[in-house]
Amino acid sequence: MGTIRDRDAALDSWYATTAMPWSAQPRLEGRRRVDVAVLGGGLAGLSAALELAQRGLRVAVLEAHRVGWGASGRSGGQAIFGYGCDQSKITAMVGLADSRKLFAWSVEGVELVRQRIATHAIDCDWRDGHAHVPIKPRQVDELQAWQRDLEDNFDYPTEWWERERSRAEIASDRYLGALFDPKSGHLHPLNYTLGLARAALAAGVQIHEQSAVTQLLRGDGATRPMLRTAHGELEADFIVLAGNAYVQGIAPELDSRIMPVGTYIGATEPLGAERMQGLIRNGIAVADINWALDYFRPSADHRLLFGGRASYSTLQPLNLRATMIQRMTRVFPQLKGVRLDHVWGGYVDISLNRAPHWGRITPNIYFVQGFSGHGIASTGLAGRVIAEAITAQSHRLDLFAKIPHHPFPGGRTLRTPLLVAAMAWYKLRDALW
Ligand SMILES: Cc1cc2nc3c(=O)[nH]c(=O)nc-3n(C[C@H](O)[C@H](O)[C@H](O)COP(=O)(O)OP(=O)(O)OC[C@H]3O[C@@H](n4cnc5c(N)ncnc54)[C@H](O)[C@@H]3O)c2cc1C
Repeated sequence: MGTIRDRDAALDSWYATTAMPWSAQPRLEGRRRVDVAVLGGGLAGLSAALELAQRGLRVAVLEAHRVGWGASGRSGGQAIFGYGCDQSKITAMVGLADSRKLFAWSVEGVELVRQRIATHAIDCDWRDGHAHVPIKPRQVDELQAWQRDLEDNFDYPTEWWERERSRAEIASDRYLGALFDPKSGHLHPLNYTLGLARAALAAGVQIHEQSAVTQLLRGDGATRPMLRTAHGELEADFIVLAGNAYVQGIAPELDSRIMPVGTYIGATEPLGAERMQGLIRNGIAVADINWALDYFRPSADHRLLFGGRASYSTLQPLNLRATMIQRMTRVFPQLKGVRLDHVWGGYVDISLNRAPHWGRITPNIYFVQGFSGHGIASTGLAGRVIAEAITAQSHRLDLFAKIPHHPFPGGRTLRTPLLVAAMAWYKLRDALW
């Protein structure tokens, strides 16, 4: 047993074996100056960098490892509307009128993924369609209530599939129906991230890999803020922090408001087009609505990519491969005996209320975090919203900053055991009724 920080889990992923070519970018050396310095070469940092460069600013990204090394290059690839928490929770926090705006912007996030794929000709296997599926009668009620809320309050129609239709689309007896959204979809997340990085380079962004930020100097009225690495210093008018749960100790007031949670995926051996189609007729992505959820989708080479194990303790679970197979065959017993060729994991940055945590810590240091396992689409939006704010249009960021965020209880030492205990309760609830 060890933490997934012990080794580069991204290297074991199916994505890494099917990644598009990428030229390593030079590490930061010496002292440099730009308009905006971005910490983090994932989807959030790259999206901010691209949007800022498109607005004419000089931008540099500092990435500790390489582009897409973090969650963005490892994820389930399911690009879905909304945020990490139910929209009703956001409505309770900011009121219906503002919640409507936030929801519409999340839909813009999904649309932005499609636009960027088209505009920058990113080859990342996009496929339309996503279904949320219920396992229990109470979850049927929950999903149907959600569908009504989406339609009545957010003007977002979806389809309800009764059990028979759901069974015809997804060859599993586990599900009692499905809430289907044709506008959401799925993609190869590493290739999308690399494609976005290429677009950023083409727009003039400098990307420095192997350039871990060791210190944030906040500046004062007289001095500009700066990011320091072992080999260089990057001074800027504005700084954007987009390091996900992987960044720690750079801005303690941000660390205390997210928890790193490990989450894992397996890729089966290639199943062939026909067998794959027999499992998921139209190649859509699927996720159940349990607290510790299962989610899956086909890959372009007809493997099943199955995510379904989280670790709230940050320790990689024992017998991960066996557990993943067990979960997968609970959904698809017909896959008994099928190999998992790859198993990998990464961290998500969950906030206490699972809502996005975006804002400023000083007038010229911005941050985005708290994607809470729901970041493929909303990271793109986050980058755009930060770029707008830096170029003096901050009404959207100001609305996100209205969402209240509290530190995890227990401080550095107790927050992990408390979270583990809380999650055990939610899992028990899912198991019992
Ligand atoms: C296994 C898994 C499955 C997921 N599935 C889905 C899904 O299906 N749908 C969905 O919407 N979301 C999913 N997510 C969540 C989604 O991937 C993330 O929300 C999103 O990719 C976060 O992007 P990011 O840019 O904020 O973070 P990251 O992609 O993690 O990028 C942060 C980068 O910052 C760098 N960094 C950190 N510290 C420093 C430092 N000090 N100096 C320099 N660089 C630093 C890291 O190396 C990293 O590359 C999943 C996540 C995981 C891990």
